Amino acid sequence: MRRIVVLALLLAALTAPTAVAESNNQVLTAGRTPGQAAYDVRLAADAGGTTWTGREQITFTNTGDTPLGEVYLRLWGNAWDGCKSPVKVSRFEGGTAAAPTVNCTVVKVDLKKPLRPGQRGSVAFDVTMTAPARTERFGRSGAYSFFGNALPVLAVRDQAGWHLEPDVGIGESYYTLAADFTVRLDHPAGLVVPATGTVSSSRRTTTISKAKQVRDFAWAAGPFQQATTKSPGGITIRTSWTGVVTAGAVKDAQTRAAAAIDDFGRRFGKYPYGEVDLVLNDRWESFSGMEYPGLVLLVAPPNEEGPVVHELAHQWFYGIVGNNEYADPWLDESFAVYASYVHTGDTQPNCWPGRLDHLITNDMGYWQRTPDWSSYVYFYGGCMLADLERTLGTEPMAKLLKSYTAAHWYGVATPEAFKSAAQAATTKNLTQFWTNHSVG
Ligand SMILES: [Zn+2]
Repeated sequence: MRRIVVLALLLAALTAPTAVAESNNQVLTAGRTPGQAAYDVRLAADAGGTTWTGREQITFTNTGDTPLGEVYLRLWGNAWDGCKSPVKVSRFEGGTAAAPTVNCTVVKVDLKKPLRPGQRGSVAFDVTMTAPARTERFGRSGAYSFFGNALPVLAVRDQAGWHLEPDVGIGESYYTLAADFTVRLDHPAGLVVPATGTVSSSRRTTTISKAKQVRDFAWAAGPFQQATTKSPGGITIRTSWTGVVTAGAVKDAQTRAAAAIDDFGRRFGKYPYGEVDLVLNDRWESFSGMEYPGLVLLVAPPNEEGPVVHELAHQWFYGIVGNNEYADPWLDESFAVYASYVHTGDTQPNCWPGRLDHLITNDMGYWQRTPDWSSYVYFYGGCMLADLERTLGTEPMAKLLKSYTAAHWYGVATPEAFKSAAQAATTKNLTQFWTNHSVG
């Protein structure tokens, strides 16, 4: 998500070290489970596209080191409404579901039989999602409905145990492993349905979308206008906009998106999903842009810069390079801000304000209790990385980010991993740099 203004332009050319990164993936997800998940989902919309009902099957491997007796589903769509439950699950197969907990955002499923390490299993269940009446990531506005963080996804167990942290109401608290999604969306002919992934077959009333190695699946439904363009680098940009968005805003988003997705590809490894959806509305209640794999929700002001560059930077920092967004929000937000700076050629001279009252590396539970979340995690975090570039040098910093993204491609990065990669990129001792820049 983005709450602050970022600008736009600049350089570098290398190619994606995807093959190397994928072979690292095994190592990087070691201990984190359940992994290698495949989501097979069939949903049907009501007449307005506001309620979607169907069946979700999740097949997964116990990629942990110890037996897996249960899995947890995250029903993030219930975060704001709690147990009024706009997201409901029932009729489980493969395990027994307990009553929802954590404000009805968690459902524990005891597996029929525990999985040994390396063993594959699955659960299936009915799911109903009704977009609440608010202009939000999961919500509806007029004839348009948005399904961000609506589809139930697997929680992660790692060395620290199961991650069942709450949504704190600001930013993102999500943590998922990369997975493959095949989602069939049946809908009335009048609805246009932009979605995560690549639409492999589409008739007027069915959209089938496949997405490989993504952490979530989002879609929207409504009488959108839609246009498809291509970046010079060959990425398909599918733009969908509501009736109130101006042609100028559409064009602006398309142009900025094409430049950004190619530039980030050169810097951090080529965008691997082939296409990206831009979904534009004139306003959102609590954000200006919201990132999902292969799909971003954007505000589209007629005459000012929109958040498209920042949200596309999240395709790499959160999407391709995953992180626990509750524990380490700076690993996605500070990096997205910094990526926007380098894209626009904004070096942020003298941006560091001096001693700070908080560590920028604090978790979401901490930020919930202070009003300083966006200035620290966005602005000071982005500034810290700009200062790191000044400390390492521009070229070593570019190499560092390239190798950091390659090393965690489709995996999960940690603060320790980034700090040790940064230290390895210089002969200078960075200990004092981290302390001076409020990095814990
Ligand atoms: Zn953001």
